[in-house]
Amino acid sequence: MKSSPPLNARILDPTDENIQNAVLLLKQGGIVAMPTETVYGLAGNAFDAQALSKIFLAKDRPTFDPLIAHVALEKSTFADLMREQLVSPQELSDLAVKRIDRLIREYWPGPLTLVLPRGKLVPDLATSGMETVAIRAPKHPVARRLIRELGLPVCAPSANRFGRISPTSAKDVKEELGDRIELILDGGDCEIGIESTILQITEDGEPILLRPGVISREALAKTLGVSIENPCDEPANSGSPRVIAPGRLESHYAPKKPLRLLATTLAQMMTPPILPGITGRAGEIPAGKKVGLLISSGNAKAAGETLSAILDAEVITETLSEKGDWLEAAQNFFKKLRALDASDANFLLAEPIPQAVQESSGIAYAIADRLLRAAAPKE
Ligand code: AMP
Ligand code: MG
Repeated sequence: MKSSPPLNARILDPTDENIQNAVLLLKQGGIVAMPTETVYGLAGNAFDAQALSKIFLAKDRPTFDPLIAHVALEKSTFADLMREQLVSPQELSDLAVKRIDRLIREYWPGPLTLVLPRGKLVPDLATSGMETVAIRAPKHPVARRLIRELGLPVCAPSANRFGRISPTSAKDVKEELGDRIELILDGGDCEIGIESTILQITEDGEPILLRPGVISREALAKTLGVSIENPCDEPANSGSPRVIAPGRLESHYAPKKPLRLLATTLAQMMTPPILPGITGRAGEIPAGKKVGLLISSGNAKAAGETLSAILDAEVITETLSEKGDWLEAAQNFFKKLRALDASDANFLLAEPIPQAVQESSGIAYAIADRLLRAAAPKE
């Protein structure tokens, strides 16, 4: 079979005309990259299986990894989602509907995805054949306008090749998919920077956290007035009947260069008695190699000098937030990881986020989750 020639995506400002062109493309069953407040998404008509297959193809995404449908309903409720035939009320208890409405009222539009019973119009490809569908209402004005003017929900996974670093700017999308799509709407840098929190509401109303994000488990628990299960922490072989969200693979968000987590923070490394923080690794660094270092807070230059002295190697450092602000760290996470990947470092090291910090901040926990997957072996 003859393969089609590579495309050359245009990055366009979200003017009225360009949005109309994007809407037209979507109406014809095409796909378009759009900004959202979390990361850039690759959008296609959520009810058009052919459009969805183009998303999977462009991303090299396996079809066992379901998509999130994005809606732009004003002040929506569960009943509105039902009217759109996105969700089905079957078997849902009154408590479940009440909780869903409470969450929608509090967090939409915003970075919260709800996993709910699937409606009639949702193609199998969107849900990987499951009886539930993931839905969120993005806050970014360009995404909202695009969906509103299309008049239909869109599915929009992150606009990167499968398993790689998520894009947080139009330029990142061009780097990832420039030869596979036609159009990228430029909505500036993403404000949140990491993917949405995913919460499933079961038929009897039980909330289960499937992916951490900037809306923390604690915040959701407070909104609902109940505790929330977190199977994200359970190892795959725990024997637990609960599974984390499908498609949440161990290796994800990965740079092209090898990335390892340091065994301790740099501060711990420097605290007497000096810990062998990169046990065994220092010896593995061949002379003349450059190290890319990602730290979560504090001064990049100072951290780079510290590690450089320990390793006796040149170190290029990026900090997620110099002042230790976790919202800023989330915003910077994929951007800085991408910058290190594009630098002339030969391999990358990242400072781990200590358990106690993860327990004190839901956002730190969400970043640590991404970091662990970014550093996981790719095989
Ligand atoms: P994203 O990669 O941000 O587009 O998010 C897609 C992720 O949402 C998938 O990888 C799954 O982890 C999760 N997801 C989507 N649909 C469902 C569903 N029906 N049930 C559970 N998780 C889902
Ligand atoms: Mg993704």
